[in-house]
Amino acid sequence: MAQIYDRVALIGLGLIAGSMALAMRRSGLAGEITGYARSAETRKVAAEIGLVDRVCDSAAEAVKGADLVVLCVPVGAMGNVAAEIGPYLQTGATVSDVGSVKRAVIDAVGPHIPDGVHFIPAHPLAGTEKSGPTSGFAELFDGRWCLIVPVEGADVAAIQRLRDLWVGMGAQVDEMEADHHDLVLAVTSHAPHLIAYTMVGVADDLSRVTDTEVVNYSAAGFRDFTRIAASDPTMWRDVFLNNKDATLEILGRFTEELFALQRAIRTGDGDHLFDYFTRTRAIRRGIIEAGQDTDVADFGRVKK
Ligand code: NAP
Repeated sequence: MAQIYDRVALIGLGLIAGSMALAMRRSGLAGEITGYARSAETRKVAAEIGLVDRVCDSAAEAVKGADLVVLCVPVGAMGNVAAEIGPYLQTGATVSDVGSVKRAVIDAVGPHIPDGVHFIPAHPLAGTEKSGPTSGFAELFDGRWCLIVPVEGADVAAIQRLRDLWVGMGAQVDEMEADHHDLVLAVTSHAPHLIAYTMVGVADDLSRVTDTEVVNYSAAGFRDFTRIAASDPTMWRDVFLNNKDATLEILGRFTEELFALQRAIRTGDGDHLFDYFTRTRAIRRGIIEAGQDTDVADFGRVKK
């Protein structure tokens, strides 16, 4: 595949930035990739493993001369990073991000983007519970969706170029409006993470069930919650603080449904439970048919 950008700067060098660097390299999509992360330790590891072509000591240095800058830091840090790099952005460059929330990021980053620089927010719907500079892999975005969330008046050619990059990294691309994105993600990602965090917290608090029992018998369902609940605390704190309204709306609906199921159990309404579980099973089938998961029963766990 042909090169799309001459120099790409990745600010933040964790799971998503690392996977982008490896995916871009896989297909030769960027001439040079520079990178910056907040801590000296992360920068050292990134340099040692050659995650990007050049690790810089400041975000300003990393973005100089870049025709694409991608903010790959937690949502709550995006505004400060944008303020820091704003004065150093090259005219004609594109600034994008990979944040899991879009409206709050647009509000925080937008004011720091100078005239003549394109701001095109995006969100790849791919991830794992791992974080840090060694957690990325080139295949992370293969077959997954990346949602581009253009701000009003965004340059059509700049959007197309960013779309080409994501397609080159293996993703399927769609465009969505920011508030709608935040509502969709509250349903598909944010509320499920909060529920997983809660379930693992409940098991931890329940003194009638011993720790060993929870760990040894976790394959009964709990194990799958623990994987999600192991996700990065900083990232997820920022997601909830920045997608407040949509998350609270979905959690309100969740609570109503939970009460209805609770009532069905108490009153012995088996039909209600059966119909409900039949409907949810069909959703799982739809996800597999769309290629967004595999039908392997023990997905993700290597047999010994
Ligand atoms: P990660 O592995 O924890 O990496 C975050 C990176 O940001 C680290 O290199 C960290 O540096 C750096 N950082 C944090 N605060 C900073 C600051 N103020 N200035 C400069 N660098 C800073 O996180 P990730 O999973 O790649 O997530 C990055 C973004 O992608 C987040 O906005 C998240 O919402 C979004 N996202 C995540 C997933 C997922 O499943 N993980 C999926 C899609 C989108 P240090 O190591 O030095 O602290």
